[in-house]
Amino acid sequence: MRKALLDWFAEHGRDLPWRRTRDAYAILVSEVMLQQTQVSRVVPRYLAWLERWPTAASLAAALPADVIREWQGLGYNRRALNLHRAARQITERGWPDDLTDLPGVGRYTADAVRAFAFGKPVLPVDTNVRRVQERTGRRFDSACAQALFDLGATVCLGRVPRCRICPLAVQCPSRNRRYEPLRRQPPLEGSFRQRRSQTLRLVAARARPLAELDDEAVAALRDDGLVEVTGAVVRLPV
Ligand code: SF4
Repeated sequence: MRKALLDWFAEHGRDLPWRRTRDAYAILVSEVMLQQTQVSRVVPRYLAWLERWPTAASLAAALPADVIREWQGLGYNRRALNLHRAARQITERGWPDDLTDLPGVGRYTADAVRAFAFGKPVLPVDTNVRRVQERTGRRFDSACAQALFDLGATVCLGRVPRCRICPLAVQCPSRNRRYEPLRRQPPLEGSFRQRRSQTLRLVAARARPLAELDDEAVAALRDDGLVEVTGAVVRLPV
């Protein structure tokens, strides 16, 4: 199964920019962006980010306001501040032994950086990897990580896996099974998340009087450190 997977990947694997580097900072940027944003949306933003801030030190020197502005459109804006804080920590103290000590870095992201940047033999297990392992009943090694990401994202899909074109089908005990719909993320339209994101976009364009804004959204953004309220004016942190 491992050989079938790697042969398939050699032919069908996606050419993604973060797969062409072993730079730990670049890989951290890609992984944080990919946490909650689709690959196709991340690619141009990842390239633009690295052009603007090619190193952890350059990001660390940036103003939080600029980091938040650059993140606009990727969603879940707290990730931008956490990435900025992580860059400052790395610049001041180096990479920690336990990468989960970095702000916004959980087990999966830490394992991804350890595997793809530092060459550690660890398999980062995200939803795609977990699904393929569960369905096949196999445990794969770290060399299979990127292949598992792509198989899970393009063939072994959550609800209707495309077993007909799957390189693992011959040996897979779950071949041709159907699955219940996955629990979907609640719709953005009309949600508080959307109100927050619209409010942040307004403030990112320019500082505004509190009276012009959604005050509940401002309070939540302020609690997360994404905006500051001085007097009755709301602005990005500097
Ligand atoms: S045969 Fe079907 S269920 Fe098994 S790994 Fe391939 S796509 Fe997934």
